[in-house]
Amino acid sequence: MRKLPALLGLAALLVGPSHAAGPSAVASMDRSLWPEPLNSPAAFDRASRAELLAFGHALAASEKLGDDDLRDELKLKQLDRGAVDHMRSIYWQRLTSNYQLAAAHCQPADAFCTRVTSEDDFKKTADHFTVAEGDRYTAWFKAAGDFHRTYLDELLRLASLFPQISSEVDTYSPRELSGNELPDRHFLLTFDDGPTRADGNTDKLLAVLRQRQLTATFFLLGAPLQARLQQTPAAQLAASYQGMCVGAHGWEHKSHSSWPEWQDSVERTIALVHDSLPGSYAPLFRPPYGQRRADSGPFFDAQGLRVVLWNIDSQDWSSKVDADQVKQRVLTLMLLWRRGVILFHDIHPKAQAAVPWLLDHTADSGVDWVDCHAFPGS
Ligand SMILES: [Zn+2]
Repeated sequence: MRKLPALLGLAALLVGPSHAAGPSAVASMDRSLWPEPLNSPAAFDRASRAELLAFGHALAASEKLGDDDLRDELKLKQLDRGAVDHMRSIYWQRLTSNYQLAAAHCQPADAFCTRVTSEDDFKKTADHFTVAEGDRYTAWFKAAGDFHRTYLDELLRLASLFPQISSEVDTYSPRELSGNELPDRHFLLTFDDGPTRADGNTDKLLAVLRQRQLTATFFLLGAPLQARLQQTPAAQLAASYQGMCVGAHGWEHKSHSSWPEWQDSVERTIALVHDSLPGSYAPLFRPPYGQRRADSGPFFDAQGLRVVLWNIDSQDWSSKVDADQVKQRVLTLMLLWRRGVILFHDIHPKAQAAVPWLLDHTADSGVDWVDCHAFPGS
């Protein structure tokens, strides 16, 4: 729970002890309802167009709600309509440009291939989007309606709380990275909250990544890293992370927007990561819960650090979703956003199953798993 007295009124809105602004429902869907494998770039694009239209349909529907209905839908006590509308307009831009990418090579006879020349065009197409009963996509369409309404609620809830409660939903400046900067079809894997004790989930995940010849960026917490170094000599731990990129996530898992010692937390963690894992160190900081102060930019600039948020949240920490639901949620969001920084937690086991499945299910679809060293600031 948050500590700032001014935010006590908002505290009652927050769900979950470890992820303060977590949603009340977590979106996931059964990808087997999509009737085709994603075994080519064209197949990826077709599925991407469908998810973009379904999300756009949910967005158009939400715009028809009055303030009171929207506030109830988002399970908020107060609605910041201006903040919600701001994010909606950003989403319409992203959806339109993503749809144009996904439709660049489709033929009019292809599924979900409507010519879209402007944002208005896309809005109208998405608003009227439907799939008839008995169509091969009907089962997917019904599940996608639920998924995108629930997912949009997650996002708009964060949007309404921002910036009183900051999060990954928006950036304060272009210096902060969220994954939306990446090229089309490019995805970076990131893992937070480690390391675990020896032979725990961090070590198991590192073995999975190595076996699949993947790199990833880890955001380590200072206190668990210090504890692990009591168990595992620094040189040995450095060898485990070799080839990966390692940034800082703060000394403790506390909001860095309301913790008086937040600067000390960042500096201590950076120093420990740098000194114990020098070969993997990357000057990157990810704030716990995505919460950082609006005026923190000059501090991070002075430290030579980039703030890295995310745009694809696996929700793998949540007890509301199992590993199967996590992987299907992430794949759906990869089709929707077409690029991004994917947030997992190596302290939980779900990513160990989800990551290989994601690789296998996008193997021939033109997806590029970004080398963490090529990510800005690494
Ligand atoms: Zn975290």
